[in-house]
Parts: sequence; C-alpha cells; structure tokens
Amino acid sequence: MKTKLIAFVLTAVFCVMPSIAGAETGHGHDHDRADAPKGGRWLENTQPRAEFYVEKDNTVTVAFYDDALKPVPAADQSVTVVAGADGHKTTVEFEKKGDALVSKGPLPDGHALNLVVQFKQTPEMKPVNFRFVLEDHVCGACKRAEYACTCGH
Ligand SMILES: [Zn+2]
Repeated sequence: MKTKLIAFVLTAVFCVMPSIAGAETGHGHDHDRADAPKGGRWLENTQPRAEFYVEKDNTVTVAFYDDALKPVPAADQSVTVVAGADGHKTTVEFEKKGDALVSKGPLPDGHALNLVVQFKQTPEMKPVNFRFVLEDHVCGACKRAEYACTCGH
C-alpha cells in the first residue's frame, strides 16, 4: 500500500516538472514541442509554425505547419543562422527548396554551437532572433536531440 502511494507521488512530481519548465519561459506553448513533426525544435510564436530541424548531414531544414500540424509551404519567410563555436562565427544562409527553407551548407562541427536563428516573416520585417545551444548529444531523459529536448533537462 505504501509503495503504491510513493510511486503515485513520484509520477505526479515528474508529470508536473515539464509544466514548471514551461512556465519559466513565460508562455504556455512548451507542451506542444513534443509534436514537432520531424523531431526538431519549434521556433516559438511563428505563424505558420516553423520547425527547426538538423538533418543527419548537419544541414538545417526549417519547415512550416498550420495549427493542425499540416505542412504548409514557405511563403516570404527567410532564415539565417549564425553559429558560434570556439570564438568563430559562421553564417549559414538558407534557400527555398520545395516547401521548406534549407540551409545552403552544413552547420560547422562542434559539440556545443551557440546558434542565433534569425527569422524574418517577410522581407520588410525585422528579424526575430532565436538563441539556443545546439549540442551533439541526445537527451538521456526524453531521448530527443538535446536542442529539441521536451523534458527540460
Ligand atoms: Zn529531454
């Protein structure tokens, strides 16, 4: 009986943790991150929703979806990524390929790249910068690539 209660409490604690992590970022969208269709990272508050995904060859795809997660073609959006590692900065440009925006080259090698994803909804708009660290390992807890981790580890 006691064991069951402890197990229940532990489960409750672990279930609550992701929502605490979400609250810290000041909005309620984090619970959606697990939905990212390719297993990438949502660029938050983009409409249509933009998913940032690192391919196996280290190129990046930014794909777009409506609220039902149906793919929609890229319109006037543009993306530039600045990747920083060991004091060096590399700018990676993107081009439209099919429905998505695809980087013209791979990201530089590095165990932890400081990325600034500069996202423009239209050419006239000021870019919105998404900053995060791209690590080359998989989160031990949720088994997703670290940059796309949904569990807050
Ligand atoms: Zn995780």
